[in-house]
Amino acid sequence: MISIVCTDITTLQVDAIVNAANTGLRGGGGVDGAIHRAAGPQLQEYCQRLNGCRTGDAKISPGFDLPARWVIHAVGPIWQGGGGNESALLAACYLNAFEQALAKRVKSIALPCISTGAYGYPKPEAATIALTAMRDFESHFDKIVACCFSEEDAGLYRQTLARLRGETAG
Ligand code: ADP
Repeated sequence: MISIVCTDITTLQVDAIVNAANTGLRGGGGVDGAIHRAAGPQLQEYCQRLNGCRTGDAKISPGFDLPARWVIHAVGPIWQGGGGNESALLAACYLNAFEQALAKRVKSIALPCISTGAYGYPKPEAATIALTAMRDFESHFDKIVACCFSEEDAGLYRQTLARLRGETAG
């Protein structure tokens, strides 16, 4: 089941939340900063030992002080106009995040709108990639939460999900 919510991802009671991380796994602004603040300093210490993460890939850590047991740090691409393989990298980033979750037997997972903040990915195209990946993995989880951070983003996600479902119906 995919649900679309508009909230702060750090508050969600799920097995794993996904972070829109940077390649250094150093913690930054946006959702990354919020997750590091809510998880506490142990998260930063743990991440320092993970040796970074390539764009399109994902690494997992405990959630420490978060309600979520795990944080999956996925590195989305920085938008460069579309000619830098960004769409494949964004798709890979969601796929690798789900693979990390499955390896830990995660049943409920929440994901932010990766790359659409500071990294500048156009939101409609990013929503299509994100929700296509969520639909591909839907049957492996009890619950996938698409965690938007504005009502506008949540509306776009609802519209996009309805379109994707319509395309494959009948
Ligand atoms: P990126 O660098 O991958 O673009 P950002 O953190 O800048 O990452 O933005 C990614 C998305 O996360 C944006 O849609 C932003 O609105 C959203 N976001 C920011 N803070 C939070 C939060 N606390 N919970 C959920 N989503 C958030």
